[in-house]
Amino acid sequence: MIHVVAITVGQWGLRVPAREGETTRRALIDEEALDLSLKVRRDGDALLLPLLDWREGAEQCLFEQNPERVVLPRHELVGGIAIMPERDRAGAQKILASRPSLHTIVYAKGEVSGEYRTREFEVLAGTPTTRTEVIEYGHRFHVDLAAAYFSARLSSERQRILQQTGRNETVLDMFAGVGPFAITLAARAALVVACDLNPQAVELMLENIAQNRTKNVLPVLADARRLAGIFPWRFDRIVMNLPLSGTEFLKEAFRLCKAGAMIHFYSLVSEEGEHLSCIQKLGGEVIAERVVRSYSPGQWHAVYDVRVGN
Ligand code: SAM
Repeated sequence: MIHVVAITVGQWGLRVPAREGETTRRALIDEEALDLSLKVRRDGDALLLPLLDWREGAEQCLFEQNPERVVLPRHELVGGIAIMPERDRAGAQKILASRPSLHTIVYAKGEVSGEYRTREFEVLAGTPTTRTEVIEYGHRFHVDLAAAYFSARLSSERQRILQQTGRNETVLDMFAGVGPFAITLAARAALVVACDLNPQAVELMLENIAQNRTKNVLPVLADARRLAGIFPWRFDRIVMNLPLSGTEFLKEAFRLCKAGAMIHFYSLVSEEGEHLSCIQKLGGEVIAERVVRSYSPGQWHAVYDVRVGN
C-alpha cells in the first residue's frame, strides 16, 4: 500500500468566512497576491487563503503544497516585475516561464537607501528594464523601481485613508513619490498637494496624473522642510510616509495643518507608543496606532493617526 504524505509549509494566510472565499480568492489572484503553490485550507466556518506576502489581517498558517503547481523561488511582485532576494538566474527563468503577466525578473542588490529611498537592481531575466505599470484599485501607476520609491504593500493603507477623506478637504502628501497616495485620495478630496524631492519621482507622478485623468493633484518638486514657506494654505489632512526620518518633519507638518486636521504619520518603530510623547508635546492627540507591516525582528512599520489640536 502506498501512503501519500502531504508536505506542509508555513506561509501568511488570510482568514475569510467560507461564503466570501471564492470572491476573495479571485480578487487575490487578480492582485497576484495568492500563493498558488499552496492549497486553500478549511478551518471551521472559515477558509484560509495562502498569500505570497504579508497584508493587513494576515496570520501565519500551515498549508499543504499544491502538487500541480511548480514551486517557485521567493519573489515579490510589483506590476510586471518580480523582485528576487537572491541572484538566482535559473529561478528567475522559472518564474518568468510560469507567470505570463511578468515581463522582467530582477535581483534587489541592496536595501532601500539614500534621500530618495531607492534601491539598485540587476535584471536576471526578461526585458531589461526596471519600469513597469501597477494596477491598484482601478488606478494605473507607472513606476520605475530604480528611479523612485514605490511599494505595492501600502495599497490597503491608501484605501483606509481614502475612506476617511472628506469631499471638501485640502490634503498634503509630504513625501509623495510617484503619487499613489495623492492620486488615490484625489478621488474624494478637493485638492491634493503632492511634494517630493526626487525629480524622477515627480516626472513619474506627472505621467500618473495624466494617465489616471486626475484633475486635482498639484505636484511640487521641493524639500518638504520648505513647504510652510512656499504655501499660504493650511491643510485638513497630511500624509507623511517617510518611515525612517519622518520625525524630523513632524514640527513642519503641525505648522501646515488647520486646527482639527488629521496627520497620518508612518514610522519605523521598535516599541508601541514610541512617538506618543513627541506628538503630544507638539499638540497632537494619537487617535490610533497600527502596525502596517513587519520590518525586521523587533521592528515594524507603524502608522499613527494624529488629530491636531486647536
Ligand atoms: N508616498 C510614496 C509611496 O507611498 O509610494 C513614497 C514614499 S517614500 C518612502 C519617501 C519619499 O520621500 C521618496 O520618494 C523621497 O524621494 C521623498 N523624500 C525624501 N526626503 C524628502 C524631503 N526632504 N522632501 C520631500 N520629499 C522627500
